[in-house]
Amino acid sequence: MTASKTAFDPASAAARGLAHCHFCAQVQPVAHAHCARCHAALHLRKPHSLQRTLALTLGAMLLYLPANLLPVLNVESSVKGNQQNTILSGVIQFWQDGDYPVALIIFTASIVIPIAKIISILILCRAAQTGRRPSAMTRLHRITDFVGRWSMVDVFVVAILVGVVQLGTVMTVTPGGGAFAFAAVVILTMLAAHSFDPRLIWDAAARRLNTASHRNRPDGAA
Ligand SMILES: [Zn+2]
Repeated sequence: MTASKTAFDPASAAARGLAHCHFCAQVQPVAHAHCARCHAALHLRKPHSLQRTLALTLGAMLLYLPANLLPVLNVESSVKGNQQNTILSGVIQFWQDGDYPVALIIFTASIVIPIAKIISILILCRAAQTGRRPSAMTRLHRITDFVGRWSMVDVFVVAILVGVVQLGTVMTVTPGGGAFAFAAVVILTMLAAHSFDPRLIWDAAARRLNTASHRNRPDGAA
């Protein structure tokens, strides 16, 4: 792997051929191929970061449909009969029963956050190609990584209900197909955010600056 000056900011460690071990964080020459401390493979950037991130995001987008269309919870009760709740019907029911905070938490964690996260990851992938607004994009990456874990709230709610509400013949609660699809959406978006290498944004920004300075040179050298 060569550390070409056009690919990286000349001030970066990568331009000097120095890699940061993804596992133990030791900085060392990438020419070593393997980390001197933990023997992990060394790369200047996460390999195939963009392709992996996009593939995982696409998977999350596809599973988002069954996550919302299939029931997340099946409630069999001898009094009320069989009830199946999707995420949205659950939110509406909590709202109608006057449980506004619960309705808002589930709506935010299960509907708003996954969509916002998928859109953010797509914006980040685009920024890794254009190199526009690198500081803002790095901040977006940090927020995406932090917020994403909170969408697991819904999966926990289902898991707790299934574990706690087993009243034998009176009432049985089982997870529906939507719960599994939703858990897969959360896991895929977490993996997508993790696969993304935010340094690609700065590499693209450096390339962009490099092209601009070449264009402004009076001799027009490219
Ligand atoms: Zn290491």
